[in-house]
Amino acid sequence: MIHYIDTHCHLDGEEFAQDRDEVIQRAQEVGCAKIFLPAIDVKTCQTVLDVCTSYPGYCYPMLGLHPEEVKGDWREQLATIKDAITPKVIAIGEVGLDYYWSREFEQEQLEAFEEQVRWAVELQLPLMIHCRKAQNEMVAILKKYANDLPGGVFHCFTGNEQEARQLLEFDRFVLGVGGVSTFKKSHLPEVLPACVPLDRLVLETDAPYMAPVPMRGQRNESSYIRHVITRLAEAYGVSEDTICQQTTANVERIFPRIR
Ligand SMILES: [Zn+2]
Repeated sequence: MIHYIDTHCHLDGEEFAQDRDEVIQRAQEVGCAKIFLPAIDVKTCQTVLDVCTSYPGYCYPMLGLHPEEVKGDWREQLATIKDAITPKVIAIGEVGLDYYWSREFEQEQLEAFEEQVRWAVELQLPLMIHCRKAQNEMVAILKKYANDLPGGVFHCFTGNEQEARQLLEFDRFVLGVGGVSTFKKSHLPEVLPACVPLDRLVLETDAPYMAPVPMRGQRNESSYIRHVITRLAEAYGVSEDTICQQTTANVERIFPRIR
């Protein structure tokens, strides 16, 4: 049987309130060995920690302030989140920059992201990075700390070859790939094999969002990653087992606290 890790799943969300046990059971049945849960703000730091406490050795927490949640109270939120980072927390995330919907808090987003990048250096924890319409700004901040950062994931990568190469220059970082790779219009099946070696890739759902074909539009869940694995195996011309083994090895390298 295949074994893989879902590195980004909002399993604490209310979308899963009614059937979280069943969702986890289905994931285990198809070979999902672990699930990583990112927080997005103070409130979800608690729900993420609660779910992970309920499924020890299976669900792992990542704490951070998501760029879309950076508002006027970001400094207070960051102080509370930092206090919640215990040795059980495996990464800082999800954090980053997002100018897709609004640039209202552009300056605050930059400051909040940089502060959390400094946490990653200080605590030597990997970063789970969310970035939309802001890659150059994000890269500029990361470059300042590149020598001291232990690594991380550029989550939900959907870019082109040039963008992939720019991100892979951070040699302890990998790209997170999920359901988008199965969409008909996606260029990822060409872009990834062209410039992303298999030791620079990890799997994710971003559930409940981004369900892969043929579940597109439905609530996503960790068991659906098998469709992403199939697509990536075709694209790279390797077995599904190879995709799983490589991505799992990458996860174990970047997230030492799960070992
Ligand atoms: Zn997310």
